[in-house]
Amino acid sequence: MHTSLLVSHLGTRVMIDCGLDWLGKFKRVSPSAIVLTHGHPDHAWGLRNGAPCPVYASQQTWQSLQHYPIEDRRLIKDRTPTKVYGITFEAFPVEHSILSPAVGYRVRAGGARIFYAPDLIFIHERKAALDGVQLYIGDGATVMRSFVRRRGKALIGHSPVRTQLTWCQKEGVPRAIITHCSSEIVNSDEREIAAKLRVIAAERRVDVRIAYDGMKLNL
Ligand SMILES: [Zn+2]
Ligand SMILES: [Zn+2]
Repeated sequence: MHTSLLVSHLGTRVMIDCGLDWLGKFKRVSPSAIVLTHGHPDHAWGLRNGAPCPVYASQQTWQSLQHYPIEDRRLIKDRTPTKVYGITFEAFPVEHSILSPAVGYRVRAGGARIFYAPDLIFIHERKAALDGVQLYIGDGATVMRSFVRRRGKALIGHSPVRTQLTWCQKEGVPRAIITHCSSEIVNSDEREIAAKLRVIAAERRVDVRIAYDGMKLNL
């Protein structure tokens, strides 16, 4: 299934991203709301036939989904903390795609603060995004190699896990989970990749783990 995160707090369940794999299946998650990071197929196309709940996204993401039969469309403006049933989402623009501009979310519920960005090259306002964050959940497209390509003045692609862990170190984020993993991680020997990650993480004094389907965490 395409990568998705369910944030729950006091009975509210907010699903972040709903890729094509979730088409016809996400109703059983029974989300109170769905929040989107960007309009790519693996993040938004599960909503092709509509949604049973309010959907939150940026103006640019809504533009790419204008033909979808989603009734309750809500806007999340960049850098504007937005309450979604008691859970606060703040969108931070991230470099990733020209046609489907993406955001990462700083999510606050009770005393917990996390940052979620499944696809990114960098966060435009990283310091503000990661300030006081207990857990960074990031892009597992590549561990060491760069997947960054230049298109005119813009950059598209993904930053390696190594770089993301350096951001965590710089901003004092103690824990990271790597999600949306590519075949480089999925098809590699689990112990080997875990060992490799442990070394990179230890150098940066960040506790890192690779996400798996059904992974649950209490904060
Ligand atoms: Zn993407
Ligand atoms: Zn993606």
